[in-house]
Amino acid sequence: MQDYPLTITQLLQHGRRVHANSEVITYMGPDQPMQRTRFAEVADRADLLASALQRLGVGEGDRVGTFLWNNQQHMEAYLAVPCMGAVLHTLNIRLFPEQLAYVINHAEDKVIICDASIAPLLAKVRDQIPLVEAIIVCGEGDASSLGETVAYDELLAAEEPGFDYPELDERAAAAMCYTSGTTGNPKGVAYSHRSIWLHSMAVNSAQSVKISEEESVLLIVPQFHAMAWGMPYAAWAVGCDMIMPQQFLQAGPLVDIIESTKPTVSGAVPTVLTDVLHNRPDADLSSLKFVLCGGSAVPASLIEGYRETFGVDVVQAWGMTETSPLAAITRIPKHGDGMSDIGWKTKSGRILPGVDVRICDDDGAELPWDGEAAGEIEVRGPWITGSYYLDPTEEKFHDGWLRTGDVGSIDDQGFIQISDRSKDVIKSGGEWISSVDLENELMGHSSVREAAVVGVPDERWDERPLACIVLVDGATATPAELTDYLTDRVAKWWLPERWTFIEEVPKTSVGKFSKKDLRAKYADGELTVETVG
Ligand code: ADP
Repeated sequence: MQDYPLTITQLLQHGRRVHANSEVITYMGPDQPMQRTRFAEVADRADLLASALQRLGVGEGDRVGTFLWNNQQHMEAYLAVPCMGAVLHTLNIRLFPEQLAYVINHAEDKVIICDASIAPLLAKVRDQIPLVEAIIVCGEGDASSLGETVAYDELLAAEEPGFDYPELDERAAAAMCYTSGTTGNPKGVAYSHRSIWLHSMAVNSAQSVKISEEESVLLIVPQFHAMAWGMPYAAWAVGCDMIMPQQFLQAGPLVDIIESTKPTVSGAVPTVLTDVLHNRPDADLSSLKFVLCGGSAVPASLIEGYRETFGVDVVQAWGMTETSPLAAITRIPKHGDGMSDIGWKTKSGRILPGVDVRICDDDGAELPWDGEAAGEIEVRGPWITGSYYLDPTEEKFHDGWLRTGDVGSIDDQGFIQISDRSKDVIKSGGEWISSVDLENELMGHSSVREAAVVGVPDERWDERPLACIVLVDGATATPAELTDYLTDRVAKWWLPERWTFIEEVPKTSVGKFSKKDLRAKYADGELTVETVG
């Protein structure tokens, strides 16, 4: 067989020619016409961007940052930057300024492409990022706070059509993302051309997300969060229309986008889907064949809520920035063993072909796939990172396997069930209590909108669960009622004694429950805690 390199350039040219008429559709705001651009034109504009970046001095291996919402320009950068041999660094626009400056400096970004609407956020760190030689600004808004900048469209207009793409090593870095740094500084993960290529095929396979030309995908997950779960490249490869919501990510505009563009597939973290379910139960989401959901455990109540309210299937997946991110996805298996659909659908994911998985105990010994034994999940494979960018963290790897920091079990059909993240586990009297299980059960109560459970110090048991509850608007529930509700659903010794009712669960920069913040608030005495039992 030919030793042909698996590069994004190959995908770029394929999408340009074979799927020329597929479209990137950008939502421009309520009552504005959508911006619809054919793949052929997006590819031509990517050529112009590559020429422009070259003229600005970007060479092979240089990092180009993007500080962008999900939109057409972001897709152009997804194509141009890796194919010209440079490295696309998608910056998380929600990072605190210190972390933002840290990742830009750590990656040594040379140029940044920025949406004008969020220019003030980047401006806060402009004087701390001396290696950035140019900032290119696109879209509507006042970017004067950034000082000297270059206008994206003017830059492209000055170039001749076409670009002579270099031959690339498939193992060369194509893109990088930093983890959101819940502990310490964010860590960089570099994706190679080969890993992105293989991951795209895995996303598109029939056992997986099965994107194809007949679908159109609404990209809610930010392009800066684990490459929008790899969907832009996967969709480009097969000519699936992409709908880009930009900054319009609240329930109202999302419903507007879905009703007007009729996507067939989408994906989002549970908090976004919950928001739509609670705020817009009247929405018509019937164009969606399913919504992919992951990033944190997907409660049964959310899956059932979507089925009953919208007639839409929620499909759970598991992965992390380090795994490109898709590593496992839950499709109901042929051999269902009599388990209910919801029993299967609340599994975190079934491991994909191409990814090896195992669970290990505290001593590193492998545990059986019996659906019971729980330990740290470890993975390896061609789209799993083998190291962090310029960050020697050997403790994150174990004999060539990535230690995910997730604790869970695997059953005999390769379904993973995450019970906690190792930094969030609650160890009560030496035994694990699964915060994920408690949260999922609590979110099944009709008065509970969100539930986050964290471990707090306890004199007798070392640690006990604290349940942090957000009630549905206008609903009431007491700790005693919720304890009663949990009694038949979890082991008695799991029942939390400490309860707090809060307005909102603090969220991380990618929309997950921030348990670190909750623990800190508890330690600082900022939560009003009621005790039962
Ligand atoms: P961060 O680490 O900043 O949250 P990632 O998006 O890389 O950023 O998060 C990956 C983590 O998200 C996983 O290690 C896991 O803890 C959690 N996660 C992802 N999918 C699921 C899922 N289906 N169920 C439970 N946890 C999940």
